[in-house]
Amino acid sequence: MSTPGTPARVLVLNSGSSSVKYQLLDMAGEERLASGLVERIGERSSRLVHTPLAAGGERRERTERIADHTRALRLLSAELDKDGLGLDSPELAAVGHRVVHGGPRFTGPTLVDDGVLAQIEELVPLAPLHQPANVTGIRTAREMRPDLPQVAVFDTAFHATMPEHAYRYAIDTATADAHLVRRYGFHGTSHAYVSRRAAELLGRAPEDTNVIVLHLGNGASASAVAGGRCVDTSMGLTPLEGLVMGTRSGDIDPAVVFHLARVAGMSVDGIDELLNKRSGLSGLCGDNDMREIRRRIDEGDRAAELAFAIYAHRLRKYIGAYAAVLGRVDAVVFTAGVGENAAEVREAAVAGLEGFGLAVDAARNAVRSDEPRLVSPDGSRVAVAVVPTDEELEIARQTFALATREDGQ
Ligand code: ADP
Repeated sequence: MSTPGTPARVLVLNSGSSSVKYQLLDMAGEERLASGLVERIGERSSRLVHTPLAAGGERRERTERIADHTRALRLLSAELDKDGLGLDSPELAAVGHRVVHGGPRFTGPTLVDDGVLAQIEELVPLAPLHQPANVTGIRTAREMRPDLPQVAVFDTAFHATMPEHAYRYAIDTATADAHLVRRYGFHGTSHAYVSRRAAELLGRAPEDTNVIVLHLGNGASASAVAGGRCVDTSMGLTPLEGLVMGTRSGDIDPAVVFHLARVAGMSVDGIDELLNKRSGLSGLCGDNDMREIRRRIDEGDRAAELAFAIYAHRLRKYIGAYAAVLGRVDAVVFTAGVGENAAEVREAAVAGLEGFGLAVDAARNAVRSDEPRLVSPDGSRVAVAVVPTDEELEIARQTFALATREDGQ
């Protein structure tokens, strides 16, 4: 814990379309003091779950209608206040906001002022579901504590180092530039944290380490990281491109969209909903939870088996592609809900890639742990690792570093 009088706490806010997740961290020892979630915002019965972590306090829960994000923030601050940790606390150094889209402009964590907030709002068309909630979160927190540094940490920022030949789509340049159409990539704070942590696990300097990170949660993305810098990533203008996900298709021939519009008479919004919400594992077999899919496979379910095979095939294609992009790979690193927990996915993703120096050791791969660990056999040319992600800690670190910098730049 920090000494009184030296503000070292950071509140991390992750405002989604109908939820706000939050964590309060003390950066002196990177200790988590509280965490919580407000969900079903705007619905009839919203829920706030608050867990004080430092004081060993009891988990508290309340269910009531929470009309909007402004109300949600006020309630979560009141909940933090009960333990003397609210937004009014003098020990709070800054608020770190996860912001989904930084567009081409925001390439790192940014102190928010009126101009920055307006620019973040201008990016709403690039992420219409998430960006408005991010903007409201920042606006409300600023209203509640106008004196406090508010830092925006962008999901896209880590990928800003991609070279133009990786981020530019091969379409008419003038049209692309006029509408900011290019690959941006997402899950950037996770790819940043995990790639750095993987280098530590290998006992190497990040500047001298090449890794392929596979962030496999409900959303899923791959990145190629060379010497600590992202050189390619699988998500694009939006989080729809790339790997097979829980409910998103990932890569698909764009002509599928024209075909469905012309032949099935579907609207743009209808196809958007199909590819984002009714595709991926869920579209293929009706389940998007990997645990359920594995259970069904064990029972001999053919649709679940095929969904798993398609998911793994896409992973192998990206590993191969990014091995070619990087030239030399030191590790393939799995993270997020599926990557950290599903041993079968890790095994299937590298199956047949022995020629690339990749293999998993069955016993190591079967171990369950919250710690970063190697799952490849000793002496493997390329390490295979599991590194639990921690996006909140990464956001808090970036926020604190920027908020406490002398020049504030
Ligand atoms: P997100 O943050 O994208 O919502 P997470 O990283 O929390 O997602 O991952 C959620 C997914 O992780 C679940 O949908 C489920 O498929 C998978 N998952 C979680 N636990 C396990 C487990 N023990 N075994 C296999 N898959 C798991």
